[in-house]
Amino acid sequence: MAQDDAELPRSVTRRTFVGAAGASLLTGAAAMGQDLAAPPNRAVGRPQPQLGSSDPLPEERKLGFAVVGLGKLALGEIVDAFAATRRARLTALVSGNREKASRVAAQYGVPENGIYSYDDFDRIAEDPRIQIVYIVLPNSLHADFTIRALRAGKHVLCEKPMATNVADCERMIEAARTANRKLMIAYRCQFEPHNLTAMRMLRRRELGDLRIVSADIGRSTNPDDPADQWRLDRELAGSGSLFDIGIYALNAARFLVNEEPVEVRAQLFAAPGDVRFREVEDVVAWQMRFPSGVLFHGSTSYSYAFTNTIQVIGTEGLMTFDPSMEYHAQRLRVRGRGQDRVMQWSPIDQFAREIDHFCMAITDNIPVVADGEEGLQDVRLMLAILEAGRTGRPVSTDWGYRRTADPATAVPDGQGVA
Ligand code: NDP
Repeated sequence: MAQDDAELPRSVTRRTFVGAAGASLLTGAAAMGQDLAAPPNRAVGRPQPQLGSSDPLPEERKLGFAVVGLGKLALGEIVDAFAATRRARLTALVSGNREKASRVAAQYGVPENGIYSYDDFDRIAEDPRIQIVYIVLPNSLHADFTIRALRAGKHVLCEKPMATNVADCERMIEAARTANRKLMIAYRCQFEPHNLTAMRMLRRRELGDLRIVSADIGRSTNPDDPADQWRLDRELAGSGSLFDIGIYALNAARFLVNEEPVEVRAQLFAAPGDVRFREVEDVVAWQMRFPSGVLFHGSTSYSYAFTNTIQVIGTEGLMTFDPSMEYHAQRLRVRGRGQDRVMQWSPIDQFAREIDHFCMAITDNIPVVADGEEGLQDVRLMLAILEAGRTGRPVSTDWGYRRTADPATAVPDGQGVA
């Protein structure tokens, strides 16, 4: 039973309430809260008033999350995002540092007995306060913790990149299938209003026929920063700039064009003697060809000055995201057909929207935007790009993948989405 059913009066079936997009709809007498079988002059109960889409659900109806790995992203963005969610609450923390976890738990109202270590993580199976596990660990640890969480009967939201190789992605997908639990990869930009607006404009062909997407995403890694140390370590990161930040350009190109690349070419570069790049790649410049003929060219790097731009050019206009993947300060400029518009909405918590989507996918059993297959597709494409870079030859990527849910239609309207 979907969770929302709990509030329905017995005389009204769920069929009466659910609209095409899963939105609550009431019609006729049911909308007035009347018991259809009762005489009109008798006192009758009324259904609970419908909650506005931004109103949080009562605490007891929210799904409980365990956040695994209390690093920069978890503490800088994710634990705070729960305050902006409608359907989720933070109920557990998993960390290798008990003292830090206790401090965070006290700050966010997580009970001491909701703190787990990596060693006793499997005990979450007996904790009914946890329905969903959010994996925010270094990349190569995603697969094992995802599989352990699924085996413990929990749904999993896993940070990008899904894993560091295809076999791990496939093990994660299989574990979700076996456990009959949902798996989502945390592609926050697919829930971000500027990106959603762009997707919808492109689906409406507002730039005419698309010709090219370009993107450059880079920053300079700092070997003194613990969060960059594992990123420069092949065993923990799996790969370098492409898997960490180039993935945003790849994923955006796919959801903006709404097709899958059929061929990739690439070149790799690292400055000789730069000790940061003994194990992982630095600059990756790559091209992709989509079936309709749309082209992509772009680059990513761990030695650039901060760079974060995506551009889409069509026969009748162009759009530029600059910056394109910020947590709170996106900007989208659209030019063409006699117009020049800049869209920059007030900050919105894209992590909260992503978390709420996953909760809704679980309670209402709707397809997950950015499911495990989506994460696998990016990992396969990134490995193909790196192979093209190493060999200097084009690599065919025409293996027939199609996404289950297009975010442009599957993610409901929200603040700022045009
Ligand atoms: P951090 O290094 O800041 O945090 C990682 C945390 O993982 C650590 O603090 C630690 O938590 C835990 N951990 C467990 N084992 C290890 C280990 N062997 N080495 C290092 N850390 C370990 O990384 P980030 O928070 O920046 O990134 C975490 C994940 O989130 C990555 O997969 C990254 O790709 C993704 N990410 C996604 C972003 C997005 O916008 N969607 C943005 C940034 C990152 P503890 O001390 O609690 O045990």
